[in-house]
Amino acid sequence: MNQSYPPPTSPTIPKPILQVEGLVIHYETPRGAVQAVSDVSFSVQPRERFGLVGESGCGKSTLVTAFLRMTKPPGVIKAGRILLNGVDILALPKNEMRRVRWSQVALIPQGAMNSLNPVMRVRDQIADALVAHGVILNQAALTARIEELLARVELPARVARLYPHELSGGMKQRVCIAMATALEPKLIIADEPTSALDVVTQRAVMEMLANVQEMVGAALILIGHDMGLMAQVVDRLGVMYAGELVEVGDVTSMFKSPQHPYTRALLGSLPSPRERKVRRAIGGLPPALIAPPPGCRFHPRCPEAIVACREVAPRRLETTGGWATCHLLDPTQASQPLEAADAAPSA
Ligand code: SF4
Repeated sequence: MNQSYPPPTSPTIPKPILQVEGLVIHYETPRGAVQAVSDVSFSVQPRERFGLVGESGCGKSTLVTAFLRMTKPPGVIKAGRILLNGVDILALPKNEMRRVRWSQVALIPQGAMNSLNPVMRVRDQIADALVAHGVILNQAALTARIEELLARVELPARVARLYPHELSGGMKQRVCIAMATALEPKLIIADEPTSALDVVTQRAVMEMLANVQEMVGAALILIGHDMGLMAQVVDRLGVMYAGELVEVGDVTSMFKSPQHPYTRALLGSLPSPRERKVRRAIGGLPPALIAPPPGCRFHPRCPEAIVACREVAPRRLETTGGWATCHLLDPTQASQPLEAADAAPSA
């Protein structure tokens, strides 16, 4: 593994910074409820880097938006708890939740750099954000704080005087990261923070984000598609499919020995510069979440499906370094392959 980022921290502190329990989020539509997030449970330790991967539309962004209680209609949180540092944020009054955002949990949303105000200098945008969250400083202290925040993301002080159109994509993303981490949150959520950048800039921005996370002492949830990037940055990885979390584990075990067929398929679709193997695309399409398939939601696309997969939802089972939801790991399920069952003559 080509390791150039600060080494991942080992999660040893027992009390998680984030604990998600049985979270269910629907989008209510005239045609019925879109089951965007279904019974998701996991936790993140202080200072840990947790990666979340899965195909577009699998519910990653819907899930993390709920961690800031920013789910907007027609999205509705139907069930579950989100404990941030032990406090259920779904039960907090609105004004208290406003205080928690940014100071305890900060989001770097997808396309964050496009959210900068084009007619305001960087300095004024950072100052506005600080004031909006109750940071009152005199002019000299404010200037010093803004320069300190820019230096943290490796930008020179002169950037404070510039407008967003005078910055490159990478510089804009750095400004967004400086703003998101200005109040030293305990949890940073970065939703595909490098997707709009070229490969070289992606690497530099990711390295800088990892450094800032270390400096602030926060945990990081990194959402993305780039498994190679995940392998270099995160401690643990969660794989989402069709609104469900199907496997969680430490990143080394997940890459060496993925236990869920969907994780195996995701890794099998990666190009390998060493082995000149053909990339295997995952056949079929993810299901419409307005009517997901019964049993295991992956069964219509799973090359390893057995009869139980189309009838019974798999339960969570322990693996080396984590857990996965798959009947193949379950000794209580008979293992007749689906193809053989379909081919057998009916009595
Ligand atoms: Fe495939 Fe069945 Fe496992 Fe689902 S439960 S991933 S369909 S083998």
